[in-house]
Amino acid sequence: MDAKTVFTIISVTILANGTALAIAYRGLATSLRPAARLWQWGTLLIAAGCALFAWGDFLPRPVMLTLANGAMAFGLTGYCLALRNVHGLKLHTHLWGPAIGVTLGIFWFSAVAPDFKTRVIIVSIAWFILAIVALHALTRRPSTSLSSSRNLLIGLLVLLAVCVAIRLSIYLSPEIPSDFIIEKEASGWNLICSIVLTMLPIVGTTGFLMLCSDVLRGKLEHAAATDYLTSLPNRRSVTQRGEQMFDQAVRSQGGFAVALVDIDVFKSLNDHYGHEAGDRALVHVANRLRAETRANDMVARSGGEEFTVLFGDMDSTRARAAADRMRLSIEQGNFKWGDQIVPITVSTGVATRRHDDKCFEDILRRADQALYRAKSAGRNRIEVA
Ligand code: GH3
Ligand code: MG
Ligand code: MG
Repeated sequence: MDAKTVFTIISVTILANGTALAIAYRGLATSLRPAARLWQWGTLLIAAGCALFAWGDFLPRPVMLTLANGAMAFGLTGYCLALRNVHGLKLHTHLWGPAIGVTLGIFWFSAVAPDFKTRVIIVSIAWFILAIVALHALTRRPSTSLSSSRNLLIGLLVLLAVCVAIRLSIYLSPEIPSDFIIEKEASGWNLICSIVLTMLPIVGTTGFLMLCSDVLRGKLEHAAATDYLTSLPNRRSVTQRGEQMFDQAVRSQGGFAVALVDIDVFKSLNDHYGHEAGDRALVHVANRLRAETRANDMVARSGGEEFTVLFGDMDSTRARAAADRMRLSIEQGNFKWGDQIVPITVSTGVATRRHDDKCFEDILRRADQALYRAKSAGRNRIEVA
């Protein structure tokens, strides 16, 4: 099959995929639509590049080469931007650099100082950089969140980077003359690289749609486990994490402590300063608690003005000391509303794992009873079960 037929088949297939994406676009969540638009533009540009290679003979050769290579490089840039956008990364202006470089470079080395080898070097380097940029966007997440869609896209991009590097090394060899005409004498590697690039719009579009669905699922799961006001984990997360930490403590025969922290007379703060001040005070307390705990401890907002802190590997003496640090930090935290300093105190019930505890709920129940005692005993204090 000659290059013209290959490029014709590829451009038609890519367009069909672009159409499928346009249909799926309307069903996507609003937050994913900008990324899908970028991917769609990328697809359209790569299809245009292929069509120009196949049918662009009517154009002067330098014009055809510039437009076709430029379209492909801008298409790949569209993919990089889409993958960055879907992961909430910034779309820096310098990301356009490789595509602009390809367009200007190909024009110069086809119209002004024709040189086939330099053209191949420019295009290959740009594709390589863009593949790496796209891979960087895909792999910035922790490995636990690597989904199959992400692995599929990573696989395609690695394949592209490797093929481009091989092509670069072949065309850099001295046997290739500078006036080589790629369409007439197309080598296997040239076709393989083009085919791999065009697998991105075809197979990659499916991967991209799956990735959108994974990202959306991740966002929903995160929202379901997070408190919207303080951005702390919510009650649901406390139960899940608490059970995990309990099981781990049983296995390792280690300590495990739970502190229930409840803001004192919070209702009167709301009544006196207004609900908005109450909301800010909750965020303030959340920040103080987070600042006073270790990275492995969990601070969660488990109810209206109630927080739960889970301490791994901690006995009751150290748990009491930690709870007292938190209490002091909040009492001395100087929460300001307007120009007034609003006093905030908390009462805390602490409980640690006992050998006869069957589950996390057993410890939680004792912490709750201790909290009740702290309230009855006058507030702004800690009781250990
Ligand atoms: P105690 O010292 O016994 O804990 O008294 P309290 O006033 O803190 O407890 P109570 O249970 O009587 O009142 C809790 C208040 O917390 C009532 C509710 O309006 C307020 N609250 C709960 N969630 C929020 C919230 O998201 N924002 C604001 N501003 N207030 C909230
Ligand atoms: Mg309270
Ligand atoms: Mg309460």
